[in-house]
Amino acid sequence: MNSPESAENPAPVCSAKGCRADAVWVLAWNNPKLHTPERRKTWLACEEHREHLSSFLGVRGFLKDVVTLAEWESRPTSP
Ligand SMILES: [Zn+2]
Repeated sequence: MNSPESAENPAPVCSAKGCRADAVWVLAWNNPKLHTPERRKTWLACEEHREHLSSFLGVRGFLKDVVTLAEWESRPTSP
């Protein structure tokens, strides 16, 4: 069954609070207190907020990877 929602393809937006800009970057992160080591949470960021969001995660030691959205989507999905 195809959901009608799949007909439209809304552009992903930045995860920064109040920002509606199109996401360009994917920040992959992991909180070792909550997640198993191979688990990846993702935040989306526009050009403007990539620095802000990555430093937020970076100072906590959570940030694992920063890649473009296009590159992230071309990666094989892990099970
Ligand atoms: Zn933004």
